[in-house]
Amino acid sequence: MIEVGQIKEVNIIDVNHMGQGVSRIDDFVVFINNAIEGDIVEIEIIEVKKNFAKGKLLKIIKKSENRINAPCQYFSQCGGCQLMYIDYKAQLEYKKNRVLNELRRAFVNTEGVTINDTIGMEEPFRYRNKTAFSVIKKNNKIIVGPYEQGTYNTVNINSCMLQTKEADEVVSILKNLLIKYKVEPYDKRTRRGTIRNIVLRSNKQNEIMLILVTSSEIFPNKELIVKELTTHVKEIKTVVQNINSRNTNLIMGYKNIVLFGDGTIKDTIGEFTFTISPDTFFQINQIQTEKLYEKAIEYANLNKDDICFDIYCGIGTISLMVAKYVKKVYGVEIVEQSIINARENAKLNNIENAEFLSGKAEEVLPMLYKKSINADVIIVDPPRKGCEKEVIDSIISMASKKVVYVSCNPSTLSRDIKLLEDGGYKLKEVQPVDQFPWSTHVETVCLLLRK
Ligand code: SAH
Repeated sequence: MIEVGQIKEVNIIDVNHMGQGVSRIDDFVVFINNAIEGDIVEIEIIEVKKNFAKGKLLKIIKKSENRINAPCQYFSQCGGCQLMYIDYKAQLEYKKNRVLNELRRAFVNTEGVTINDTIGMEEPFRYRNKTAFSVIKKNNKIIVGPYEQGTYNTVNINSCMLQTKEADEVVSILKNLLIKYKVEPYDKRTRRGTIRNIVLRSNKQNEIMLILVTSSEIFPNKELIVKELTTHVKEIKTVVQNINSRNTNLIMGYKNIVLFGDGTIKDTIGEFTFTISPDTFFQINQIQTEKLYEKAIEYANLNKDDICFDIYCGIGTISLMVAKYVKKVYGVEIVEQSIINARENAKLNNIENAEFLSGKAEEVLPMLYKKSINADVIIVDPPRKGCEKEVIDSIISMASKKVVYVSCNPSTLSRDIKLLEDGGYKLKEVQPVDQFPWSTHVETVCLLLRK
């Protein structure tokens, strides 16, 4: 019998999808934060459920050879990175195994499938081009930072090893300006106060878009704050006030007011330039995105007569990259502003054979099929929840030769691959790419061929 309060010595045999160490006591699975395969640890049982228990790490008796000292001083509080105590090489191995485990769990036929090692980063720091922090007041002090692991409590940080040095500088100057100009942080309980969040977006030149999320349009001394900020940090190219008056944990609201610059920044992927607006999706890790897209294009193995679909196209990044290899590419995306950006991006890059359709993929794809507009190659890059059933059904009906599936969630990826497999496709190759070093997230690109 396992009971709360018991002290046990256990071997850690695995790390689960949340980055927790896994051990077994008799037939019971026990999850332990900050423990890693190969560790022998002493734990206290802190929660017992029907099929599993949770343990708190008390003492490491024997260290796993992959255990390292976390390179970030905020690791023990911050919820941003879960794997900071694991050697980078072992993280890459963990990510490959996660994908493989999810595929097997979904009963995908992995026989004859090439599963490549995770493509990692040479320098896995300061890679994020977007960070979002909340602003709160605690004991009369202004705190700016990410959320704690598993809660909506804000951790007070002075720097983040994942964002650029310039973004660190903006956070620290802004904190002082909020105090100087008496801007009150928003309080979720009383629903009073002004500033809720700050979002920083950077490009390859380290230029910055700063988004200040406020609870209403009223933002005292905003001109002075923006003036001081932009004088201090030359890299700030644009500042946008975003209004979020809803009682929600979602960061951004619907209205943007440009306070400085033109409300956009530009960035490049490969040879292409993209315009980025405050609410458009853009891959977070530029260096790895290039590797990811290169792989996707290699798998697509396109030729000049091909019609290609880029489903869930965002601002058209993949569409523009494949355009030169094909007769025509159709991009489909639900966010209207992203489609507007995608069309501008096509113009900006002199691409004439890309057409962008705004709407839900699950509605647009069946519509294209009805109109007999079929694709030779379909690339999908859905959000975490994966493809809607109608999207999978349309792909199967269209009987395209190839499907290239780009995914940020191995679990929904595996579910969808199983459905495609049942509909006549065979999984050929799987390539995990590490877009988010130090976190449990894993990006994967897969090639499926029509049987
Ligand atoms: N391929 C792009 C974007 C991938 S992220 C890139 O690499 O940059 C997933 C995209 O799917 C987001 O832009 C999101 O707005 C969009 N999306 C989410 N649900 C959708 C749906 N039901 N139909 C179409 N697009 C959707």
